[in-house]
Amino acid sequence: MQVLDEVFNRFMSTSSIFKNPEVLRQDFIPDNLPHRDTHIRGLGKTLAPVLRGYRCSNVFIYGKPGTGKTAVTNLVLKELSRRIHDIDNNVSTCYINCRLVGTEYKILTRLCSSIGLKVPFTGLATDEVFDRFVKTLHEKSPFLIVALDEIDFLIKARGDKLLYALTRVVSNPGKLSIIGISNDLRFKELLDPRVLSSLSEEELVFQPYTTPELKDILLERASLAFIDGAVSEGAINLCAALAATEHGDARRALNLLRVAGELADYQGISRVVESHVRQARMKIENDHISQVVTGLPLHLRVVLTSVYLSEKFNNNCTTGEAYNTYSELCNEIGIDVLSQRRVSGLINELDTLGLLSAHVTSMGRYGRTKRVRLAASSAIVEKALCGDPSIKGAIDGRL
Ligand code: ADP
Ligand code: MG
Repeated sequence: MQVLDEVFNRFMSTSSIFKNPEVLRQDFIPDNLPHRDTHIRGLGKTLAPVLRGYRCSNVFIYGKPGTGKTAVTNLVLKELSRRIHDIDNNVSTCYINCRLVGTEYKILTRLCSSIGLKVPFTGLATDEVFDRFVKTLHEKSPFLIVALDEIDFLIKARGDKLLYALTRVVSNPGKLSIIGISNDLRFKELLDPRVLSSLSEEELVFQPYTTPELKDILLERASLAFIDGAVSEGAINLCAALAATEHGDARRALNLLRVAGELADYQGISRVVESHVRQARMKIENDHISQVVTGLPLHLRVVLTSVYLSEKFNNNCTTGEAYNTYSELCNEIGIDVLSQRRVSGLINELDTLGLLSAHVTSMGRYGRTKRVRLAASSAIVEKALCGDPSIKGAIDGRL
């Protein structure tokens, strides 16, 4: 097949600037985490008592996304497990990402399997699984340290019943310690005060990385991922600076570097420079917007379309104009028209998602009105919206 031949031949004939692209993947955890010594030491100190067979304190870890919480926790648990293995101590560790694992039942199954207790994947009541877990922990099993990452998802989706039950187990039979990790700083407000005080026997706060810190992280990772000299210092600096303005997110910095590297590689260029980083930024942003727009529920998509169209025809669109277009579109597509108030709420939702910006302006003696604009490039929004055939029809009919 000619098209593919071209792709494969091109891939084979050019030498890549990547030495080991795997190390730029999201889930790769390096052995060395620059600028997190204090946190590694802090968590290590908290957990160390289990090595002598004592229960260790619960820890509550929080900080913005990309500040190294997951990486530090996994690194410390890995080293701890190694030590435990060496001294043949009876301690188990268990890491669970609550967002990815999803249901309480699945979280409980993971907990059970970490202490060698097998339970069916479905079929039992959650309470029953919980009782079996506690019984085994009580009777014969080892001490258990469990890290509940992105714990806010557990609470927001299910309330704090499971967490409350777990914190009860912490004190009785006293064989469990919990590391709770949250990206959401307001998460504490959602917790029952008893759960909160149990969870935060100790607290560890992860601050955003600064530009020089991000630079060190990037330099170290670049030396593993790319062949020598393939990344310019300017490119590293720009990745660090851009990510620092976005709350010091190392994930974002590494992502920029990876995409910039892929772009340079694809273009057959042997050195990653600043322009690749700028292109990477655009690409990541556009991909993100397309993804968000594609995933929108129908009415949000129609509201976004109406702002897109209003803006296209008269540049500066008021919520009233957007609502008129929205009503027309609903009739065309054949769906119910929501009230202006509801649509106002949807506009705010789109604002929160970063797709629109809405602000109140004064119209002199005519009072005040709310204006809305697309917050992203209109071409990208249009492309993403047109993935929906009925919306594409409505847009095409007006252009
Ligand atoms: P969080 O859990 O706080 O959202 P992560 O621990 O997942 O953040 O880190 C995000 C990405 O950045 C991961 O790929 C991780 O390997 C990397 N990372 C974070 N901190 C460091 C660091 N100090 N050194 C090297 N890589 C880091
Ligand atoms: Mg994390």
